Amino acid sequence: MILDGKALAARLQEGLQRESAEFLQRYGYRPTLATVLVGDDPASAVYVRSKGRSCERLGFGSRHHALAASTSQEELLSVVAELNADDAVHGILVQMPLPPALDSSQVLAAIDPRKDVDGFHPDNVGLLALKRPRFISCTPRGIMALLAESGVDPSGRRVTVVGRSAIVGLPVALLLLHANATVRVVHSRTRRDDLQAAVEEAEILVVAVGRPGFVPGEWVREGAVVIDVGINRLPPETEGARGKLVGDVEFEAAASRAAAITPVPGGVGPMTISMLMRNTLDAALLRAGQETGET
Ligand code: NDP
Repeated sequence: MILDGKALAARLQEGLQRESAEFLQRYGYRPTLATVLVGDDPASAVYVRSKGRSCERLGFGSRHHALAASTSQEELLSVVAELNADDAVHGILVQMPLPPALDSSQVLAAIDPRKDVDGFHPDNVGLLALKRPRFISCTPRGIMALLAESGVDPSGRRVTVVGRSAIVGLPVALLLLHANATVRVVHSRTRRDDLQAAVEEAEILVVAVGRPGFVPGEWVREGAVVIDVGINRLPPETEGARGKLVGDVEFEAAASRAAAITPVPGGVGPMTISMLMRNTLDAALLRAGQETGET
């Protein structure tokens, strides 16, 4: 079975479009996302544009701040402070990575945690760790939705997460643990034989490393559910596959063994942006609830 993130994301977005129209009717303003892009990294510019387009399609408001690569930490922090203070902005997303001269941890911590729709603020990470999530970062939330929609219950299952980054591996491991899976997390310091054993035993395998074909298909357990988070563009010199996007798992070989697998592209990727929109609507509802005393 192919876990079709694109189709599920489209369904989720239909629901979000309806909800945002209801929100507008009820409160008289739109759920609004502000994006901040520093510098001219082409991939980041593509991501930010697609977020703006999603807002438009779903009837959300959007603001965009494009800042020069030479922007100082103080200037960036003052843009964040303005957005924090702006009642018409419900979600704030500062596109990562920032230019190396800037301190991204400080910037992420400066975002009002109630507008932190990326779920990267330390308060939100802490709440997630304590199983009291407010905003869950978008890719892990998308992975959990994909599993739930596909009827895969992690409870009691052996799960291996390859990668422990703050944006994917670590939060998805926490979510799976909270969903009562038995979770193993492996990373760059894991011994190679342990890595292979951890992959081989996984009934649910989540891979977020960022290396094409990192997990050989023959390591995948028969009947496993494979969530491939990696997005890697093959180098131009790759024979027959120039510039193609691939995941971290050898797809064909893994698909022949797995019960279900996400394709790249079209698996986890489309879920991520839907969850950003979900979080933005949740942030707007949080704000509206505070204003009206409903929550
Ligand atoms: P990071 O580079 O932040 O993290 C990579 C992780 O992989 C680290 O935890 C690292 O371990 C681990 N790792 C690296 N080498 C090895 C190795 N040899 N053996 C075992 N583990 C290893 O990447 P991200 O988590 O941000 O992203 C991972 C991939 O997912 C990328 O391809 C990215 O493009 C993609 N991605 C896709 C998204 C989507 O929407 N589909 C969203 C976000 C990311 P250590 O901690 O020890 O360094």
